[in-house]
Amino acid sequence: MTVAEVRKRYLDFFAKRGHVIIPSAPIVPENDPTTLFTSSGMQPLVPYLLGQTHPEGTRLVDSQLSFRAGDIEEVGDNRHTTFFEMLGNWSLGDYFKKEQLPWIFEFLTSKEEGLGFDPNKLYVTVYDGDVEANMELDIEAVDIWKNLFKEKGIEAELVRIGMEEEGYEKGMQGGRIFSYGSKKNWWSRSGVPRNMPVGEPGGPDSEIFYDFGTPHDQKWGKECHVNCDCGRFVEICNSVFMQYMKNADGSFLVLPKRNVDFGGGLERLTAATLNTQDVFDIDVFDETRSKLEEISGEKYTQSTEITRSFRIVLDHVRAAVFIMAAGVQPAHSEQGYILRRLLRRSMLFLNRLKPESSDTGSFTLGWIVESFIKMYADDYPHLKSKEKEIQDYVIAEENKFLFTLKQGMREFERISIASINGTQIVKDLDSDAVFKLVTSHGFPFELVQELAKERGLGVNEMVFAKDMKAHQEISRAGAAQKFAGGLADHAEQTVRYHTAHHILLKALQMVLGPEVHQRGSNITSERLRIDFSYGAKMTDEQKAEVEKIVNEKITEAIPVVRTDMPKEEAEKLGAEHEFGATYPDTVSVYSVGALDTAFSIEFCGGPHVSNTKELGEGNKKFKITKEEASSAGIRRIKAVSE
Ligand SMILES: [Zn+2]
Ligand SMILES: [Zn+2]
Repeated sequence: MTVAEVRKRYLDFFAKRGHVIIPSAPIVPENDPTTLFTSSGMQPLVPYLLGQTHPEGTRLVDSQLSFRAGDIEEVGDNRHTTFFEMLGNWSLGDYFKKEQLPWIFEFLTSKEEGLGFDPNKLYVTVYDGDVEANMELDIEAVDIWKNLFKEKGIEAELVRIGMEEEGYEKGMQGGRIFSYGSKKNWWSRSGVPRNMPVGEPGGPDSEIFYDFGTPHDQKWGKECHVNCDCGRFVEICNSVFMQYMKNADGSFLVLPKRNVDFGGGLERLTAATLNTQDVFDIDVFDETRSKLEEISGEKYTQSTEITRSFRIVLDHVRAAVFIMAAGVQPAHSEQGYILRRLLRRSMLFLNRLKPESSDTGSFTLGWIVESFIKMYADDYPHLKSKEKEIQDYVIAEENKFLFTLKQGMREFERISIASINGTQIVKDLDSDAVFKLVTSHGFPFELVQELAKERGLGVNEMVFAKDMKAHQEISRAGAAQKFAGGLADHAEQTVRYHTAHHILLKALQMVLGPEVHQRGSNITSERLRIDFSYGAKMTDEQKAEVEKIVNEKITEAIPVVRTDMPKEEAEKLGAEHEFGATYPDTVSVYSVGALDTAFSIEFCGGPHVSNTKELGEGNKKFKITKEEASSAGIRRIKAVSE
């Protein structure tokens, strides 16, 4: 099916069941200063879910234009997009579970009215309960699902999983309904029941997965389960049942007016109707993708790198079109800054597909913009009426960017030569110079990274993030804080995770043995990731012990100290090497605690927090969210503070 068909079928299906079709709220929220973009179907409806009366009644359905800026860097695989449409239906104190689950099942399986999925390919999850919150298995949902599958001649057995990690041990066991704990199948704005403030509504949810039938990859864990990351199962939708409110004593009150919030990714559902795991393999991208193949002479599926470039261009330009249609222009702050990033990244990746002897006119964004506007014009006529304006923004931005690139390249040459002659650790590009290149010249940081890689130079992302933070604070003091705040938090959290990373490595050595060493690392503001040498899966006890040590070091409020010293001396101290780095004769080491009594010492350029207590600010606890194989003899841990 096409995107338009799936959307229409869904809206019609629920309209026929008493729902009023409401238009998508703007992708740029009009009256919400706390957020830059609408990122889900629920977001514009929050006031109504919290009790305000909706003018259109108690049964609503829509397809919401959504954008998630946080996913910009994730685009390139077969499932991430920054822009998407989210199908949603709502009961505001009207119907509940026993209507919602049968309806959505009928919509997914009916050939006449819905998407016609084979019910054998659908698997569902329900809430397993939570001892701490005194919540039990959502048996009501289990019974409804058993009956629904039975009507299709399928014996649907319940398998109780609990925590996601347990899924990799327990496996499918021939089940159809799987129950997971609070982290997977509980919804509230603040996450699991424990984190909810008093008076906050929340409740269990029930997700539906589509089985693509591809073989399980053991790199993710021993057994496959519906929440496995191997790609066999893809979550296509979720029904949230807001039925509780948190009391002051930590218990939960059953709400007299219960709500349903359903969300389903339109693009993912469409891909599932075509039995493809690739969300870029659907009709809205077809024409542009084929033309890109034609003009570049590259096949979409040629290589991972080529596929990635195609996807980035397709995703970013489509997103940019919808954002510009909402009245946003490329600018240096807020929505305009995100838009500029999308356009500039699109240009970079589009030009990466460019063969030597090509016609440069084809390698500008105009025709891609036009192609998406045409594709969506019937369902979103406002795109068409803004076309001239959108094309003008794009041309202006392209010209600006070309100029920037020319100037920036000259500046980059200058600083890269200086760095080679300098004496920085790992021949890092001078951070101040990089910062100036990005902020004053508008040169894309992605391009700096790439050029640096080509020349064997390093770029210290964390120093850059910290500088960016300071820059944002100065340039936006007094202006709207949300964006500055966002970026500042981003940088601050990244720095905290870096310090947590050092403590974690030491804790791993204490628990698993001194032969554990770092083999890779990746830190974002969302989480930290470490790859380390170790031959076996960690037990739950080992993970708990590691978490405990890290949290103790945070509570102990230990100063983090930088010392510069000769390389040999640092080696004598047993300082841990940062992975993949080479060092000059004089190095900096960071120690958690004074050098002679330090808990951990590492060769490192920083930046770090000045005291470990900063990691626990806001009562945050360090937690390992995932432990898995990364490659032979290497384990990978993801961890967060929450
Ligand atoms: Zn799997
Ligand atoms: Zn470090």
